[in-house]
Amino acid sequence: MTDNSAPPIGAILVEQDDLRERVIALGRQISADYEGRDLLLVGVLKGAMLFLSDLMREISAPCEVDFMAVASYGSATDSSGVVRILKDLDAPIEGRDVLIVEDIVDSGLTLQYLLRNLGAREPRSLEVCALLTKPERRKADVAIRYTGFEIPDRFVIGYGLDHRERWRNLPYVAEFAGS
Ligand code: 5GP
Repeated sequence: MTDNSAPPIGAILVEQDDLRERVIALGRQISADYEGRDLLLVGVLKGAMLFLSDLMREISAPCEVDFMAVASYGSATDSSGVVRILKDLDAPIEGRDVLIVEDIVDSGLTLQYLLRNLGAREPRSLEVCALLTKPERRKADVAIRYTGFEIPDRFVIGYGLDHRERWRNLPYVAEFAGS
């Protein structure tokens, strides 16, 4: 089937070069902070997959990786804070230094749930690294130790982020310009 409509890609908010530079800086900072610790990166699927795979390559401290997949009830653009675990971690995290790697923190409700859920498993430490954050939209007060970029209140796609599962493969972050 041919789709002749224009792609719904609006203004670019974070260019590919800026993503690369920031990921390198975050990797350096995380490497220094976690030297000699027991770092477990927890990637939140699917949005964080590109960020996580680039970030890992910039971390020189020994680390392991595991994944969670969650679905937030609500509309396509507004999460309700009621979160369902679609895929849980493969292994216990008790006593480990866990770093949650998220694509974007919007209301913060999903992250608040994850912090409570993983916190209850008694890791030694639990911190968050988010590529993007929309501070204007925050409803839950969540502490983000490492942030890539603050962006305005726009729905964005690319670099792992989707609209109905498409556009994750764009190498930059852009506003979604469709309906
Ligand atoms: P929160 O619970 O913080 O409101 O929402 C977090 C989740 O909503 C993110 O992990 C992401 O999956 C989705 N989300 C929030 N804002 C955006 C956005 O601008 N673009 C995309 N593609 N997903 C978003």
